[in-house]
Amino acid sequence: MEIVVQKYGGSSVATAEHIKAVAERVKKNHESGLSLVVVVSAMGKTTDRLLALAREVARDPSPREIDQLLSTGERQSVALLAMALHDRGVAATSLTGPQAGMKTEGRYGSGIISEIQPERMQQLLAEGQVVIVAGFQGMNALGDVMTLGRGGSDTTAVALAAALGADRCEIYTDVDGIYTADPRIVPKAHRISVISPSEMAEMAWRGAKVMHPRAVELGALYDVEVHVRSSFNENPGTIIKEDKALERLETRETLAGIVHDLNVSRITLTGIRTGPGTMSRIFTPLAEADISVDVIVESAPKEGSSDVAFTVSRADFERARLLAGEAAKALSGEVEGEENLGKVSVVGTGMLNRPGYAARMFDALGGVGIPIRMVSTSEIQVTCVIPAERVEEAVRRLHEDFELEERDV
Ligand code: ADP
Ligand code: ASP
Ligand code: MG
Repeated sequence: MEIVVQKYGGSSVATAEHIKAVAERVKKNHESGLSLVVVVSAMGKTTDRLLALAREVARDPSPREIDQLLSTGERQSVALLAMALHDRGVAATSLTGPQAGMKTEGRYGSGIISEIQPERMQQLLAEGQVVIVAGFQGMNALGDVMTLGRGGSDTTAVALAAALGADRCEIYTDVDGIYTADPRIVPKAHRISVISPSEMAEMAWRGAKVMHPRAVELGALYDVEVHVRSSFNENPGTIIKEDKALERLETRETLAGIVHDLNVSRITLTGIRTGPGTMSRIFTPLAEADISVDVIVESAPKEGSSDVAFTVSRADFERARLLAGEAAKALSGEVEGEENLGKVSVVGTGMLNRPGYAARMFDALGGVGIPIRMVSTSEIQVTCVIPAERVEEAVRRLHEDFELEERDV
């Protein structure tokens, strides 16, 4: 029988009415003969609310206890969806991540899936039940619950699809699929009907929060066909897979879309002594503190000293500034920080071997007076770090300038 994993995000299960609507959809799919595993997120903004609560009772709550707390959001949703299905005469069992056999390792708050023991889920499916699994969580070797990082229910869904050999994984959310830019910022953005895993991964890593980047990578690695669709209508959505349509060969669209990220801050070390080992003196302590660094720029050295700037997420800003300050001191320099930044990226595999995208991007941003603080480029993206308050304007400007509005996808 065809196995399908479906995932419903926070806004799709935000209220009792929403949960009942999801139950109706699941019932219909179940009755059509599919074997269903349904992954759900916490209701609406529950995870944010729980985090705020943790910070009300303690200045620096322990990561283990935060995970203990946050995992309860998804547990509420699975139990409620199971009840709504029972009410409709559908046999269903809810499972927490650990009960579903999700094993994790790594750090609390950003656990990684090490193994999935699918036997319990397979047994329930064989009995004809709908299996409902709490997203975003698993159990580590100590028997503690761990979460997979914000947005991690997508990763749970794709990982389960891989472990169960599912025919596909459907991600249900509050937009009709993947668009050429966030449709909340660019109302004229177009839905992309098929997107390659590499472009989707790049968009996700650059900030398109509609899919968790690790979920896209897992999907590509294990050949899971992922569909992104709205839970509020029956529209076709987006399929993430290699588009091998021969009729378009090299004339296919060169750009997938414009992506933005508002969670960016910058640290700059000025007047530091340069030489062999300088970069590792700065970045090794950051790596040891598990701080992810994104864009890095070093100015050309003048009389043995230079400036080094890099970006980190805002959550890591204070810790990164402290560590960079120590490094700057050891290298006879100073440290500065700027917290309120954002990134805007142009993404597309069609940029390979076609020069000129970066220049066109600088031109478009410069034309409306948006200052570019840093730049990073690779074969399939160009990213500019700019002030956070200009990000939305930049996304709209670039979407128009690269003529994504005129595209018929
Ligand atoms: P869920 O709660 O279902 O996991 P998310 O809020 O995590 O949903 O992701 C869906 C949101 O992603 C949309 O509401 C949309 O604003 C945003 N988004 C950002 N970039 C894009 C894009 N390129 N295409 C579609 N949605 C996008
Ligand atoms: N509830 C978690 C979050 O808000 C996980 C998820 O929704 O994917 O980040
Ligand atoms: Mg999400």
